[in-house]
Amino acid sequence: MDFSSKLLEQAVYEMSQLPGIGKRTALRLVLHLLRQNENQTLQLAEALTNLRTGIKFCKNCHNISDTELCEICANPNREASIVCVVEDVRDVMAIENTSQYRGHYHVLGGKISPLDGVGPQDLTIQSLKEKVKSGGVEEVIFALSSTMEGDTTNFYIYRQLEEFGIKTSTIARGIAVGDELEYADEVTLGRSILHRIPFENSLKN
Ligand SMILES: [Zn+2]
Repeated sequence: MDFSSKLLEQAVYEMSQLPGIGKRTALRLVLHLLRQNENQTLQLAEALTNLRTGIKFCKNCHNISDTELCEICANPNREASIVCVVEDVRDVMAIENTSQYRGHYHVLGGKISPLDGVGPQDLTIQSLKEKVKSGGVEEVIFALSSTMEGDTTNFYIYRQLEEFGIKTSTIARGIAVGDELEYADEVTLGRSILHRIPFENSLKN
């Protein structure tokens, strides 16, 4: 692509670094940003800057938060003895939307995936282990997507937590294998959390 402006070229290049955005789409979006009301574009730029510099990760569950402890961990009405293990913040949002869960979360930040170069040390598994070790956790619920990576991660964590003798369960799925958690409808997801099954039982199928 030949650009008439270096600034335009730079903006298109940065935009095209986003997933699913090719050069042509990037150019269309950048031209849109140029055409629209200047304030709107500046507000977007400001929101992105604040997002990157202001956001924190909850020191207890690693959920994205504006404060040191996220709203869920800071809420005294939530049960800290039940911890639901999820891949990322989208899963927390999906489960919260069901209004069926009153425990805490633990956000892993991904799944074990050797092909993508993601090992256990890249996730927050050690921090989960320490949380369980320090006491107060009675049940850990696995709520990762039922993909091969999700299953591998569940099993790895299960083995890591075995020595502590706590209850481990997995959400009962009315969802086809391979479906991502965030796409499950609220009723199905809510039900699958209420009717969770002991993790050991899920290994037999
Ligand atoms: Zn938290």
